Amino acid sequence: LGKSLTKAISSLSTSLTIDEKVLDECLKEICKALLQADVNVKQVSGLRNGIKKRVNIEQLAAGLNKQKVIEKAVFDELCDMLDSGVDPKKVELKKGKDKTSVVMFVGLQGSGKTTTCTKYAYYHKKKGWKPCLVCADTFRAGAFDQLKQNSTKAQIPFYGSYTESDPAVIAQQGVQRFREEGRDLIIVDTSGRHKQEAALFEEMRQVAAAVQPDLVIFVMDGSIGQAAFDQAKAFKDSVEVGAVIITKMDGHAKGGGALSAVSATHSPIIFLGTGEHMDQFESFETKRFVQRLLGRGDVSGLMEKIQDVIPEDKQPEMIENITKGNMSMRVMKDMFESVLEMGPMSQMMSMIPGFNSDLLPQGNDKNSQLMIKRYITIIESMTEKELDSTNIKMLQEQSRILRLARGSGRAPQEVVALLEAYKHYTKYASQALKAANLPKNMKNMK
Ligand code: GDP
Ligand code: MG
Repeated sequence: LGKSLTKAISSLSTSLTIDEKVLDECLKEICKALLQADVNVKQVSGLRNGIKKRVNIEQLAAGLNKQKVIEKAVFDELCDMLDSGVDPKKVELKKGKDKTSVVMFVGLQGSGKTTTCTKYAYYHKKKGWKPCLVCADTFRAGAFDQLKQNSTKAQIPFYGSYTESDPAVIAQQGVQRFREEGRDLIIVDTSGRHKQEAALFEEMRQVAAAVQPDLVIFVMDGSIGQAAFDQAKAFKDSVEVGAVIITKMDGHAKGGGALSAVSATHSPIIFLGTGEHMDQFESFETKRFVQRLLGRGDVSGLMEKIQDVIPEDKQPEMIENITKGNMSMRVMKDMFESVLEMGPMSQMMSMIPGFNSDLLPQGNDKNSQLMIKRYITIIESMTEKELDSTNIKMLQEQSRILRLARGSGRAPQEVVALLEAYKHYTKYASQALKAANLPKNMKNMK
């Protein structure tokens, strides 16, 4: 999306006069790009009108940066469409004395309900809740075993049955049992079926009636494309959906379906699933999501680092250098340090396309942290000139590699590996900055 959008918008900059017609042409291209990102057909026409309202032709003609004005209109309009009108804080669970929250998960089979139930439970467990899981999926063979396995791994109590076939009965029993045990968060996993069919929705109504959930969460696969709206609507029509979680955002999902889910359910998105593991679960942030949707990647982490280590008057030059693919070892070292300090690279930088590379230590396990520490040691043995240099060829000189290895007490192969990672990193940082289309002036950045 990012590229086609940029192309559509830059076509504006090349036209000599800006009038309705030129703008309409540009909007047409933007709409095409949004459709390709799986934004619902009906919503796209709404978006088009919304964007048009935000763009002031006279302002454009007056020589303001056209690209910026339109980009901002697109960005703001997308943010608005992701606003369900319900404050996400409202669906955040609140603890109360002697209070038990019951949360029911619904969604089609394969959307990621069972996985997400555990993630949601684990997330709350880390926050001091006493969660537990109830398996009310009697439709799929093995559903209970899957939940059991997940729960055991997360050390969370679970309830289910191999013999009872009525999901409403199991759900009711499980909730009652855990209420008696004084659990404060009871999560009910349900079945899904492959298709939206009457029997499924009747079952959801029955389970909901049996457990009286405080919150129903609709789980949607981020990659389902144009089917998103009808699917979300069908669930909303049968049970009182109050929040949405979009899964598989780590894959090829373009994410446009998220807009459909919000408009069909009138509910906020609260989390994103970004992998199969328990901790691959992010709180939803609208701006971040729209940036990702627009293909800009998340360069704010990198930007903050630059602002921390580079004197203000040098920053524009630095940005330009990085964009051109020239980044100094000094900045690299600081990035490494922040990974050690602030957590895995995969979290901080995961939105930069292609960044999750094996070449770069991600900092999410002991070995990779150790590797980063060694890299830092090597960088610390560099001269000022080497630290500020952006000349990879110079850094790769054999005698220099040997000297750095001696100076840091590391093996020459490690120096070579560091330089490879550095090369790789500068390439992606450059791509990310180019895609982000940042203003030259850093002060206007945030
Ligand atoms: P359910 O049928 O709705 O309960 O879906 P499951 O929880 O069984 O998930 C279906 C498949 O999707 C499983 O293989 C999960 O590991 C996978 N899955 C779930 N969430 C995510 C996610 O966020 N990212 C990725 N890559 N896979 C996921
Ligand atoms: Mg399941």
